[in-house]
Amino acid sequence: MTNAPRSHGTKSIRASLRPRDLMAEAVPVHAWQARIITLFPEAFPGVLGQSLTGTALKHGLWSLETTDLRDFGLTKHRNVDAPPAGGGAGLVLRPDVVGPAIEAARGPGPLVYLSPRGTPFTQATARAWAAGPGVTLLCGRFEGVDQRVLDHYEMQEVSLGDFVLTGGEIAAQAMLDATIRLLPGVLGNAASTEEESHSDGLLEHPQYTKPAEWQGHTIPPVLTSGNHAKVAAWRRAEAERLTRDRRPDLWARRPQD
Ligand code: SAH
Repeated sequence: MTNAPRSHGTKSIRASLRPRDLMAEAVPVHAWQARIITLFPEAFPGVLGQSLTGTALKHGLWSLETTDLRDFGLTKHRNVDAPPAGGGAGLVLRPDVVGPAIEAARGPGPLVYLSPRGTPFTQATARAWAAGPGVTLLCGRFEGVDQRVLDHYEMQEVSLGDFVLTGGEIAAQAMLDATIRLLPGVLGNAASTEEESHSDGLLEHPQYTKPAEWQGHTIPPVLTSGNHAKVAAWRRAEAERLTRDRRPDLWARRPQD
């Protein structure tokens, strides 16, 4: 085995091993499980290994397993792709490579293909994923994945936004970050996920901190007044103003009290 298990509770799965046995040994039953199928396992945990998500990974609040698509490649060259049927530019990931990788990697929770054609990822998606046991994410590369795999496994397609990345890895890390920070115990101050942008259909109010004056700019006096009711009212009004001005789409859809 050349791909040794990673530190911080992460682990790689090789085609030659029996992944389910390995996972049964290493993953705490209570941990939220992120499983990633990728041609670039070395890209993980990436930024998720830093700060609060990194500490949570070390403490076993979530677990990370990467499955290297290359290990399921065909022939001695470990080919994973082939030209598109019907012609055209680029390469498509083969179903007889991606299928076995999914079989080896798949865990509890949704099976998701990261895709610019997918349903847009939102805070609601993060909340739904965080409430479940985990997620298995397939990162595409090149022109994407053979459609038969997506159909066969009835994969959900989820998009990070209306733009095209070169691969699913950055999308996976962004979506996992948004999800993991909602898991119990990951953020020190749980209240901060209740008041932030997108949690109640509004963008967050502006934030200020020390010093009281910077470059001639002062803090809005209400914030230093000590009047909690007035502070709350100011924040609410600012959140509404920002949402109305910047995101009329969110403003129109906001939950009405
Ligand atoms: N030919 C495809 C794009 C392939 S981009 C198309 O036009 O739809 C290569 C890979 O990057 C995809 O397989 C996908 O896994 C990932 N990717 C690209 N953009 C993405 C996005 N906005 N959200 C999530 N994943 C994305």
